[in-house]
Order: sequence, then structure tokens, then C-alpha cells
Amino acid sequence: MRIGCDWSENFFVNKAKLLHERADSNTSASLRGKYIERSVRVYDDEWDLFGVLDCLQFERDPRGCFIQKYGGNFRLTIIEYKPSQTKRENASFADRMQLLAQKICADHVFRTNCDACFYYADIKKRVPVAFSEEDKTALRQIIQKIRDRIESGTIPPVQKKQYCSGCSMKDICLPKVAIRYA
Ligand code: SF4
Repeated sequence: MRIGCDWSENFFVNKAKLLHERADSNTSASLRGKYIERSVRVYDDEWDLFGVLDCLQFERDPRGCFIQKYGGNFRLTIIEYKPSQTKRENASFADRMQLLAQKICADHVFRTNCDACFYYADIKKRVPVAFSEEDKTALRQIIQKIRDRIESGTIPPVQKKQYCSGCSMKDICLPKVAIRYA
């Protein structure tokens, strides 16, 4: 999408868009004493990352960080919306890396150690996620690979075990042809 300037939508893209519509409405709300902020912009210059959190929850906690807007100390939880829980290892790894990048940026902006979780719409459940130093190393490597690709302007090759059936880009990418003629 970035290097080839291609874009395509399908059922799954639009389903995810509808799910994110409420999360991205850029509003705040109070729920049972907790505050919810949506579409929160975060960054970390050291990692050279910028992004938008679906949802950030603020829960009163004397050990948490001070939030001027709400006049007190709060524990922060990042909530990333997903339509369904994937069983595929490479997809769940990609989701975890996305959430870790969000956490790095939110920790930097709010000078705290945020909790992080996925909210799976199909089971209506939050699943907390913990990260290790190995995860951070993996993310650094991924970011470097992305930078290298952008700098060289080359689209990464299709992976042998890449799962493409639900991908909106498959009529442009033609993964089976790409693998056959690789
Ligand atoms: S069709 Fe497969 S290889 Fe191509 S962009 Fe989609 S998931 Fe990636």
C-alpha cells in the first residue's frame, strides 16, 4: 500500500471500519468512574513512531500518572479493537507488535507504564497482553525492515505461508502468481 500506492477494500475492511467508527469518534466518556478517551494521538521520537489509539481508559489510582484534565492520578489501559480473535500465529504476532508500538508511544506521552489489551468484538471480551524485552527487540527489527523497504522502494516478497484469503489486496497482489514466479 505504501510503496506501490495501492488500496482496495472488501467485506472485512468495511466490517473493521464500522467497528472502529465508534472508537474513532474522537470523544471522551465516563463509565462507572472510569474515563474513556477515543482516537488518542501518541508518539515516541526515540522510536520515531506516531499513531492513534482506538481507545484509552483512565482509572483512578494513587500510584498512577497525573492527568491534568481529570484532576488526579490514573492507571492507563490501551484498548485495541479487533473484529475477532485470530488463531493464526503470524497474524496474532502482528497484532501484538501493533499493540506494543502503541504502548511504547503512550508510555512516552503519559510518562507511565500503561496496561494494554485487545477487545475482541465477536466474543465481547478484553484480553490483557504483557510484553517482554524480546518483544521490543522483535519490534525494533520489524521497524528497521520497514524503513529499509521504504528507502529502497521495494515491495516485500509474498511469504510462503502467508494467509491471503481475506485480504482486500489479493486481486492486486496476486500472491499465488507471485509465489509461482518467485
Ligand atoms: S494478498 Fe497476501 S501477500 Fe498480498 S498483501 Fe494480501 S496478505 Fe499480503
